[in-house]
Amino acid sequence: MRTNIVAGNWKMNLNFEEADDLINNIVEFIEEESLENIGVIVCPPAVYLELATDHAQDNDLYVGAQNLSNHESGAYTGEISARMLSSMAVSYCIIGHSERRKYFNEDHAMLAEKVNRALHYDIVPIFCCGELLPEREAGTHFEVVKKQLEESLFHLQVGDFANVVIAYEPVWAIGTGVNATPDQAQEMHAFIRNLVADKYGAEPAENTSILYGGSCNAKNAKELFANPDVDGGLIGGASLKSDDFIKIIQSF
Ligand code: PEP
Repeated sequence: MRTNIVAGNWKMNLNFEEADDLINNIVEFIEEESLENIGVIVCPPAVYLELATDHAQDNDLYVGAQNLSNHESGAYTGEISARMLSSMAVSYCIIGHSERRKYFNEDHAMLAEKVNRALHYDIVPIFCCGELLPEREAGTHFEVVKKQLEESLFHLQVGDFANVVIAYEPVWAIGTGVNATPDQAQEMHAFIRNLVADKYGAEPAENTSILYGGSCNAKNAKELFANPDVDGGLIGGASLKSDDFIKIIQSF
């Protein structure tokens, strides 16, 4: 059975004190509730990862990074390796976010390397895919997403693929306040699950968690998560306020 997941992508936000408050509130909620089959992940900026992993001990909170290097180690000033993350109890990493594709020129080949590095160190990639607005308007969104998965994920053997989470994030919905409709999300998630089934078989496809991301918030999460192929969300802006993030977790 696949897991429902709510993951917060804090991006480049919050100072130390704000990060500490946010994580404390989330931990308090998680320790009070017994969440059944819901994984809660926070992905803070790298400088707060240790703060997060300290808080995530002895409870059901998981910590993810927002990025890792495609290189193993060496003279790459400013970069953070999968080995470093793994040694700090970081268990997830966002890979392929549209902001990294756009501002840091991360292409399919580099993303495939990042996925490999993560898996080698037992870090679960949260692999983001999704089309730009002109691509949706041109009706090429299925093709675009298919290519992203084929080029950066589908080289994996089935055993490794079992440790991947996919996030469908239409780029036109990220940070815009315009979310995909529940029907649009379900349509693409079902398409992705079918691609996984064609490549790896029915059981791996059934077991793959596919998250929706893009202006998902406390108001629309319930309707989005109610779809059979939407297994939770990757949440940006609404993950920065504990009340909103907790409401989203409660939307299952
Ligand atoms: C994101 O950046 O992954 C995201 C989903 O952002 P937002 O929720 O702010 O649209």
